[in-house]
Amino acid sequence: MSKIQMSVPIVEMDGDEMTRILWQMIKDELILPYVDLKTEYYDLGLKHRNETDDEVTKESALATLKYGVAVKCATITPNAARVKEYNLKEMWKSPNGTIRSILDGTVFRAPIVVKGIDPVVSCWKKPITLARHAYGDVYKNVEIKVPGAGKAELVFTAEDGTVTKEVIHEFKGPGIIQGIHNTTASIESFAHACFDYALETKQDLWFATKDTISKKYDHTFKDIFADLYEQEYKERFEKAGIEYFYTLIDDAVARVMKTEGGFIWACKNYDGDVMSDMVSSAFGSLSMMTSVLVSPKGVFEYEAAHGTVQKHYYRYLEGEEPKTNPVATIFAWSGAFKKRGELDGNKELTAFGERLEKAVIDTIESGIMTPDLTRICSNKDVKAVNTKEFFAAIRSRL
Ligand code: NAP
Ligand code: MG
Repeated sequence: MSKIQMSVPIVEMDGDEMTRILWQMIKDELILPYVDLKTEYYDLGLKHRNETDDEVTKESALATLKYGVAVKCATITPNAARVKEYNLKEMWKSPNGTIRSILDGTVFRAPIVVKGIDPVVSCWKKPITLARHAYGDVYKNVEIKVPGAGKAELVFTAEDGTVTKEVIHEFKGPGIIQGIHNTTASIESFAHACFDYALETKQDLWFATKDTISKKYDHTFKDIFADLYEQEYKERFEKAGIEYFYTLIDDAVARVMKTEGGFIWACKNYDGDVMSDMVSSAFGSLSMMTSVLVSPKGVFEYEAAHGTVQKHYYRYLEGEEPKTNPVATIFAWSGAFKKRGELDGNKELTAFGERLEKAVIDTIESGIMTPDLTRICSNKDVKAVNTKEFFAAIRSRL
């Protein structure tokens, strides 16, 4: 059999711990036998990030801007314990944060739906893709603990010195205040990413805020989405047979519980933080969630939504045979192949991505899966296998 050829490389961002082990297994077992793989390799493992003063993370993001498609392994975001464990020069920033600030993207997370792993919400039949705005609001807040009576004001001083002022509250005793912000540019870029991704995946787009209460802040989000939709997207949505739908956040939450899924739910930063955990838990398992960063610059970075599965890695180092679920990481690769194939007009590569996904889903639906899934699978005839056996079962179908 001749291998599938690639004309343009995929940017490959290697990572840490258990997912780094899975990464190599995926390449060896499921990719290299079939594809003449062309990647531009960046080692984002913490050891190498430290050696390069984290320059490698920036370089990998810049390479993504150049080539258009990246696939990323999960990486450690250092904390104090990691600084000690890896003897780090500094507590390097989250690689995902660094990459996102260069690509300026929106993250879309979607569950991989298979028969037998049923969502807790019984009417959900199709995946719900969650899009979270990743800038500002409470994540860039400024807070004051008010010690006692006094007046709190919101003050904006324009470059020309003009001052706009609003009284927040006249305190009679102690309390708390908080200032939050967002920028028109960031909201617009979020809206573009959502509309573009809806068109690309042919799914309806929902967006919700609390504009009835927040008549300037949240209302601005609503207006920006509405204006862009009218100006740039309405016709294309109608042609594609999809819908843009705005409602209040509490109404959206109530409606989501009664739909069958199959749409994109765009959320402000905090709503997205909370709702993405709710949606992914209700769909079954973190090990079955995919994630793609879509940049308004027209580039895509695919990854699994879960982390490096640290506990499994320590057990692996002690000699235990891994039982970690590789599905979301396999789908990161298949997503990258499908996108690379689409951009390059490489039908064979796109078809390979599709076949890889089908082989994975067929394997699970035939009853062969890792233990995290047997625990939640409603089919009776299932067999828990380790990662190696799971790869062998996928490969025999592929
Ligand atoms: P995690 O890697 O997502 O794992 C948390 C738990 O979820 C695991 O202990 C495991 O539960 C289960 N799990 C997650 N993925 C699984 C899989 N593929 N197969 C089977 N079970 C799976 O989160 P963490 O252990 O809290 O974080 C570890 C590191 O990942 C941290 O250093 C963090 O900074 C990093 N992280 C990176 C990213 C990213 O790069 N995108 C995202 C999140 C976290 P059981 O132990 O019960 O089996
Ligand atoms: Mg969260």
